[in-house]
Amino acid sequence: MSPDMKKGTEDVTKPLLTVDRVACTGHGVCATVLPEHITLDEWGYPILDGPIPESVEARLAVKYCPARALYWQYPSVSA
Ligand code: SF4
Repeated sequence: MSPDMKKGTEDVTKPLLTVDRVACTGHGVCATVLPEHITLDEWGYPILDGPIPESVEARLAVKYCPARALYWQYPSVSA
């Protein structure tokens, strides 16, 4: 987080990790790679603890998701 950001605000220019719940097949690799942000429900599908910012671990979760169900959602631009 940049030093000029106030607590409780999000940096809307950064992408956030998102799960395509239709594509997700519940392999659980994401929870293994990113356990501090992702847990699995009783069927093995991911539960994200909130908006997940970019990090090395988050990029690895995207890379190793076997269903390509994790992706970066970029903020929409509004006028
Ligand atoms: S690794 Fe991919 S397919 Fe497996 S639970 Fe996570 S998002 Fe779903």
